[in-house]
This record gives sequence, C-alpha cells and structure tokens, in this order.
Amino acid sequence: MKYVSFRSDTGPGVGVVLGEHVFPLPHGYAVSSDGAPLGLLELIQRGTPTSVPCSATAIPLSDVQLLPPIPRPARNVICVGQNYHQHSLEFDASGYNSTPGNGVPDRPVVFTKAPSSVIGPDDVIPVHSDLTVELDYEGELGVIIGRGGRNIPAEEALEHVWGYTIVNDVTARDVQRDHRQWFLGKSMDGFCPMGPWAVTADEVDVADLLIETRVNGELRQSAKTTDLIFDVPTLIATISAGMTLQPGDVIATGTPAGVGIGFDPPRFLRAGDTVEVSITGLGTLTNTVGEPGTIDPGETV
Ligand code: MG
Repeated sequence: MKYVSFRSDTGPGVGVVLGEHVFPLPHGYAVSSDGAPLGLLELIQRGTPTSVPCSATAIPLSDVQLLPPIPRPARNVICVGQNYHQHSLEFDASGYNSTPGNGVPDRPVVFTKAPSSVIGPDDVIPVHSDLTVELDYEGELGVIIGRGGRNIPAEEALEHVWGYTIVNDVTARDVQRDHRQWFLGKSMDGFCPMGPWAVTADEVDVADLLIETRVNGELRQSAKTTDLIFDVPTLIATISAGMTLQPGDVIATGTPAGVGIGFDPPRFLRAGDTVEVSITGLGTLTNTVGEPGTIDPGETV
C-alpha cells in the first residue's frame, strides 16, 4: 500500500493513495485513545497492520498538501555514504572528500542527518547562501524500519523493513569538506526532502529498483539497486550490530554517480533549480531550490 502524510482543510492526516485520491485512515487507526491525530511514525511504532481498511471518503490528491511520510523522525536519519562504485570513485576524485580512501570502501560508511532537516515533496530546498555556495543533490532509496531489533542477521533483515520511500540527501559540499565531518554539511534545515509517499515492503522488490535524478529535467543520476556495494540486508545487519534499530528509523542507502561534484567543473544547485528523484514504484520526489525564508524550518506535524 502507498501511504501518505498530508494536510488538508481539516488538518493533518495519514492516508492511502489509490489512483489520484487519498483515502484517510478511519477513526481508530488514525487517532489515539484521547482523540489526538496519529502520524505515520506513531502507527509504525504501534505495529499497526499495513493492510488497514480505507475510509470510504476520498480526497483528490490535488486537494491536499503532501508532507514527508515521516515528517519528523524520532531520531537522526541514518545515511550510507559511498555505496555505489562509480559514485565512490567520483567522490574521492572530486577533492571534496576530506578523508579519501582507495575508491571503494570495504565496510559501509555510515553517518546521519538531523531530523529537523526533513522536508516534504514540493517544499523548497533553502540555498543557505550565507553558509554555502556549493549545494548538491543526492537521490537515494530510503528504507523505513518496521520491527526494531539489535544484531539483526542479514538473512532476516528484510523482515524488519516496513517500507520504502525516496530521500534527497542534500549536501553543502564546501561545509562537508571544510568541517572534515559530514553532519553539518548535510543537516541544515531543508536538506532532507522525503517522499512523496511510503510504499509498504510487500509491494517493493528492493533488489531491482531504478533510481534516477533529474535537475531541471536533465538526467544526472541513473542506477539500479543491483549496483549497491552493500545491499539493504547488509546495511541493516551492519547498522544494527551494536545499535538497536527502532520502528520508524529511516536509512538512506547512498547515492549513485552523477552528483554535482562528479562533473568537471562541478554543477552545483542554484536558486530556481528543480530536482526530481524517481524510483521504480516509489513515485517522484520533486523540490525546487529557493532563497532562505521561503520555508518555515520550525514547522512540525
Ligand atoms: Mg548520501
């Protein structure tokens, strides 16, 4: 099923998309015992079955504002760097890796982005021009954990996945390089577009997905998940080896070759650019780049 978090005239909600309509989850699923609306994160944390009955009342998709599927993750978005061969080589060759290796890592490179960096489909990616002049995109497959666990074996890892979404791991390359650590350069407000929806794991063959990123309509990135250096089960096994994964955790699995610093000269994002990330069966995540102040970074759902 294809879940969305949305805001409509009647407030925020969670629903299932069928065709061009959203079917809000019915009372009892989408509200707590005291009547407060529940987000998708809370539903996942509660272990709510994914095949819930839909409301009979449909809302046209065009009448709602889509939010990130998980508007404010409970903790940092877990990210994997240099997880496609060609991207790993282009990153090391770019001069922007403060700790360059020998091209392809022999173990997953793991870092995180702040939860406050998450924005939704069609939200504006702020340029933060006071801090960076080297804004870059990274289209990625996002994994949403359903059942938590520690020391999860790779062969059981996919049983812990609730579903999948699209993430754009927006990065200030100059900040990433100059601070010799990736967190600041990847955690600014608006640097984690996510969506447009979250598709349950039963509908996704994660081993065979095509990821494409376009900037102003020009294809920049194109790769399949078969190109991953470390596949999703390996990532879950590695990350959970000493750290308990929790329901609702999001793992961004790494970006293919074709980011801005992969070009000579680099092709950074500018205000007015549009970035579209598409993944088989997961839709297209579209965001424009804009001046600071065009989003409200304090907005929560
Ligand atoms: Mg990335």
